[in-house]
Amino acid sequence: MAERASAVAESIEQAAALLARRPRCVALTGAGLSTRSGLPDFRSPGSGLWALAERLPDDQARLMTLQGFKEAPEAFYARFRPFLAAVLSAAPNPAHLALAQLEAAGYLQGVITQNGDGLHQKAGSQTVVEIHGSLATATCLRCYRSDAGPPLWQALCARGEAPRCRHCGGLMKPDVILTGEQLPWRAALKARTLLRESALILIAGTSLPGGPVLAWLEAACDRGARLAIINLGPTLLDPAAEVVVRADVVDALPAIAQRLRGT
Ligand SMILES: [Zn+2]
Repeated sequence: MAERASAVAESIEQAAALLARRPRCVALTGAGLSTRSGLPDFRSPGSGLWALAERLPDDQARLMTLQGFKEAPEAFYARFRPFLAAVLSAAPNPAHLALAQLEAAGYLQGVITQNGDGLHQKAGSQTVVEIHGSLATATCLRCYRSDAGPPLWQALCARGEAPRCRHCGGLMKPDVILTGEQLPWRAALKARTLLRESALILIAGTSLPGGPVLAWLEAACDRGARLAIINLGPTLLDPAAEVVVRADVVDALPAIAQRLRGT
């Protein structure tokens, strides 16, 4: 136990030392960052809705596809309601705050996140790229008008009805991607640019899903970018990382930010 604690402390020092050299650095975060803010931890590869879909039986996993959502929006929202209720009341935790501090101090160019919960912005991060979309807005599937998400989710949590468009009565879909949907292209473009410009990528609270994000990271490694990974469980890219901190992000990220104060 003591051995493990000292290995963690040493890896935190190494991660701080990498950042202290002030390479261009971007953070990539996932569901593990928000679990300590009370959002469900689905404990499976991927994050958010994708992970929720992975642990559902086949007939229910279909709910998390766009087609399934259109076929049975009431069932989708019944499933999704506890998560939305948790998001509405969630506050940023020390891991979110530490990343905002690192950005303000010039150590980070921004955060690319798989989370759509808005907690990085609430913590004060300025550049946040939400590659799986955001719950801050929703779009009508009939007239494609966009609307603010939280009032819709509040009404859903209070009354249990699937949100409807206030212009045409069409079904409102949260602006997060469902299983099998493409990444939002603007966010994907911005994320790729940030990753391409980075010499160091700080991966925090994600076991890394497959798909485009993993391919972008592999391309970054091929270009010579270094990886620092902070995650409780193993990730696919651990063997390629310069340093792996096997600890909870709410402990490790504030510890790293603390060491960088005054450097
Ligand atoms: Zn509409």
